[in-house]
Parts: sequence; structure tokens; C-alpha cells
Amino acid sequence: MTMVDRGLLLILSGPAGVGKGTVCKALRERMPELVYSVSATTRSPRPGEVDGVNYFFKSKEEFQRMIEQDELLEWAEYVGNFYGTPRKFVDEMLSLGKDVILEIEVQGALQVKDRFPQGTFLFLAPPDLNELENRIVGRGTETEDVIRKRMEVARAEIELMDHYDYVVVNDVIESACDRIQAIITAEHLKKERQVHKYRKWLKEVE
Ligand code: 5GP
Repeated sequence: MTMVDRGLLLILSGPAGVGKGTVCKALRERMPELVYSVSATTRSPRPGEVDGVNYFFKSKEEFQRMIEQDELLEWAEYVGNFYGTPRKFVDEMLSLGKDVILEIEVQGALQVKDRFPQGTFLFLAPPDLNELENRIVGRGTETEDVIRKRMEVARAEIELMDHYDYVVVNDVIESACDRIQAIITAEHLKKERQVHKYRKWLKEVE
């Protein structure tokens, strides 16, 4: 299999509370062929979350061991908890030619950019900052202190937009999904991914 036959690595990132999880869920229904990476985290499960489905829930010691054994493609500490992407699964899926999507916060996305610059980096942006605040507060599962910290993190994260390939405004979930789907189609049609199919012809003409 040549490089071009590998799947796309899509990194969906952006400020906390912008709706990455919700967009990812909607995308999942539309594009079941996309592979969704399940992250490891040290945070406790929220009601209804299932180990191995939403996250792999780990102790701090287990997470530390994963870091030491280089099992994570990226990891970040986010508001007191660790989050990371298990590398092996992503590598295997890409080698099988499947497109893989990571839904991660911005520090992790920047690490992926260093290690895997050929990835496609999508910044999910809020329509406006008041709306973002409503979403962070509206989730209703966090304490005041965590909400305040999440808002601070969100402001700093928006400044990092520059490192991404695409900006997708999350005004209406279905529209955001349309945009992401269009990006995935365009990425597959890039000359670099297509030209090898025509090489034989190009050679014969020479
Ligand atoms: P939550 O605790 O709300 O599920 O997630 C908090 C933040 O961690 C979200 O912004 C989410 O995108 C991010 N996150 C989830 N998994 C990962 C991961 O594997 N790596 C990184 N860097 N961030 C993650």
C-alpha cells in the first residue's frame, strides 16, 4: 500500500464548549465509515458514559505508564485531568486505508501537528463568544470553578486558530457537518492522493 492509499487523519479541535462532541456525534450518524478514536482519560465517567465507548477511563498511574511506554499519539492535561489518543489503533486504521477522526482539545492538536503534519486540522469555531459561554454553563454538569477555568482555556484556545487548515463555524450542527463532509471530500480529491492512479498513463505518453 502506498502512502496515498492510507486513510486521512482528521483532527477536529477547537475551544472547550464549542460543541466538538455534539458535532462528532452527528457526523458519526452521517458518516459511519469514519473511524472515531476513543481517547484515554483520567477524568471520572459522567452519568451514562461507558468505558471503552466514550473513553478508556484510567487511573493517573495507568495514564502515566501509557505516556512512558509511548502508547499515546498525543496527550494533554486539561482542567486537572489527563486526556490522550492511543496511537496503535489510529496507526492500524490508517494503514487499512480508513479515515480516522480525533476529537481533541487544542494542546493535543498542536502535538499531532508536530508528529503528523500531513493530518487535516479542523478548527471548530463558535458563532460568537456569548454563545460559547452559554454552552459551557449550559452543560450543567460542572462546578462554578470548573466553568470559569473552562472559559479561560477557551479564550486562549481561540488564539491558536492559526495552526489549522480549516475553520468550521458551528452555528447549526447539520451545517457544520456539511462543511466537514465537504472538507473530507476535497481532501480525498487532492492531486497528491489522485495522481498515482494516472502515473501509468503519464509514463506511456512520455
Ligand atoms: P470532556 O471532559 O468534556 O469529555 O473533554 C474535555 C476536553 O478534552 C474536550 O475539549 C475534548 O475534546 C478533549 N479531549 C478528549 N479526548 C482527548 C484526547 O485524547 N486528547 C486531547 N488532547 N484532548 C481530548
